[in-house]
Amino acid sequence: MNTSYVNESIRCTVENCKYHSDGKDYCSLGSICVGAHKNNPTDCKCVDCKSFESAE
Ligand code: SF4
Repeated sequence: MNTSYVNESIRCTVENCKYHSDGKDYCSLGSICVGAHKNNPTDCKCVDCKSFESAE
């Protein structure tokens, strides 16, 4: 995984994701999948990055 890549179209602050860019608040993937964990999302707390994988 090349986490030195900075996808400037995907800002992200989740530093414990294995796809987080090294030292910058961006994602290193070319694209991500965003989804909801509630049937009728009403604000941003209801949605998640489904491409997340733990860095640990
Ligand atoms: S995969 Fe999702 S959570 Fe992980 S760095 Fe990229 S945008 Fe952030």
